[in-house]
Amino acid sequence: MKSVGIENIIFDLGNTLVYFDFCYFYDRIAHLEKKLNPSKFRKFINDKKLGIKLTKGTLDHKTFFRILKKKFDLKIGYDDFKYFYSDVFWINNQMKNFLDKISRIKKYKLFLLSNTDALHMNFIDKNFPFVGVLKNRVLSYKVGMIKPQKVIFRYTLKKYNLNPEKTLIIDDIKENILSASSLGIKTILYKNHRSFIKKFSALAKNAEANNK
Ligand SMILES: [Mg+2]
Repeated sequence: MKSVGIENIIFDLGNTLVYFDFCYFYDRIAHLEKKLNPSKFRKFINDKKLGIKLTKGTLDHKTFFRILKKKFDLKIGYDDFKYFYSDVFWINNQMKNFLDKISRIKKYKLFLLSNTDALHMNFIDKNFPFVGVLKNRVLSYKVGMIKPQKVIFRYTLKKYNLNPEKTLIIDDIKENILSASSLGIKTILYKNHRSFIKKFSALAKNAEANNK
């Protein structure tokens, strides 16, 4: 079978370009609030699907804060809360280098497709400026859809007029990969950098050989 060359690369954000762990948020709040149990705090947020609502853009952070403040009798202020909520990321240096390189060679059109919210995205743009090279973005909280819903992948293809066969998605979550793949998009499940580079080189090489 002839494989078609890749023209577009769509990057995931969390645990692909930057790592994250929400434990930093739960633990920091619990540390400041003497009687707060971080597991209960976390469970409440999950049970009420507050994280998903933030990501879909149907809940704003002030309301999120008010709900938690009331439920857990929080003493901290909104500014500290916002900072703790946002400061849960750290850089994936290898992916940063990959993105720097691939944007320099100008061979591919590059995109960002992320399940995220306004606070997290602002924090990322401020603290991880390398992500700024991805100017074409589909952000869940802005479009009201989340991965792995097929509709967000379809929306992305349509918005930027992308041929799925010529488009590669890099994402660390299997469900997202399966969903994108079912629409004919090429995919790499990002698990570790070494295996990613191997798969990416094979895809790029394969396409080149077929184009000759
Ligand atoms: Mg991810």
